[in-house]
Amino acid sequence: MTEFRADLHCHSTYSDGSLSPLELIQLAIKKGLQGLSITDHDTIGAYPEAIVYGQQHHVTVIPGIEFSASHNGKPVHILGYAFDLNSPSIRALCNNHKTRRQQRNQAMMDRLAALEMPIDNADLPTTITGGTIGRPHIASAMMKRGYVTSVQEAFKKYLREGGAAYVPGSRITIEETIQAIHDAKGLAVIAHPHLVADEQTITYLFNMPFDGIEAYYCLFPLDRCQRWLKAAQKRDWFITGGSDFHGDVKPNIPLGASWTPEATFQRLCDHHKQVNERRDPHLS
Ligand code: AMP
Ligand code: FE
Ligand code: FE
Ligand code: ZN
Repeated sequence: MTEFRADLHCHSTYSDGSLSPLELIQLAIKKGLQGLSITDHDTIGAYPEAIVYGQQHHVTVIPGIEFSASHNGKPVHILGYAFDLNSPSIRALCNNHKTRRQQRNQAMMDRLAALEMPIDNADLPTTITGGTIGRPHIASAMMKRGYVTSVQEAFKKYLREGGAAYVPGSRITIEETIQAIHDAKGLAVIAHPHLVADEQTITYLFNMPFDGIEAYYCLFPLDRCQRWLKAAQKRDWFITGGSDFHGDVKPNIPLGASWTPEATFQRLCDHHKQVNERRDPHLS
């Protein structure tokens, strides 16, 4: 019997991943994963179709999302899991992000134009309904126009935080993000604490009403997880894990590189089952 693994962090074509939800599920099977959550940036466009594909292919899929939030001007990512997919609070927050991103993408394109590297909306992918467009798509457009030779170069030279074409966009707080996830009866999880650069932000996050922390992340070795495991145990938080797989966009990170063990995944599934059973029948 192979070890149970559920990868609870990956991206589809609804945000900046290169595989569709169905292709992700097919890859999950190939990799021997038993559970999956597709956590696209600021959108639940992959659902509910992803859950249906999961049922058809015998991989348990739970609802997930990765929200962008901001604390003192610093970006923080927050994962939401096992929420009610019909919840108006999640949909409202996704809509806020959509507006934030439209304004922000335009502002970044204005900066690029001022740097004599114009790109326009026609250069960006025409996403499927409900899809999120962000910096990786702008980076690809810059590459196609020949301004840079790789996505990495676009980030390094222009789009990284503080880069000449970087714009943060309107800020959505950690508090309102956790609140929206809780209003949708979901669980709010600190994404990749390994990537939070400063201690002040970590202390702040540790004092927020999260339900879990992504202690196992990407290709980070186990010794880089210890601090997060201890913090979770102290607070009785869920300990989750995921790869942050993006497909061709980040080719060195395989699906299943990090995962959530069976007992925790089962608790998340039970939680989602209860959410569905206790749903307000007036919401459809
Ligand atoms: P955005 O949400 O529009 O700010 O874009 C953030 C996304 O850009 C992240 O989720 C990553 O997938 C991607 N990203 C960030 N930094 C880099 C980088 N240096 N190279 C490639 N992709 C990156
Ligand atoms: Fe991403
Ligand atoms: Fe992230
Ligand atoms: Zn991610």
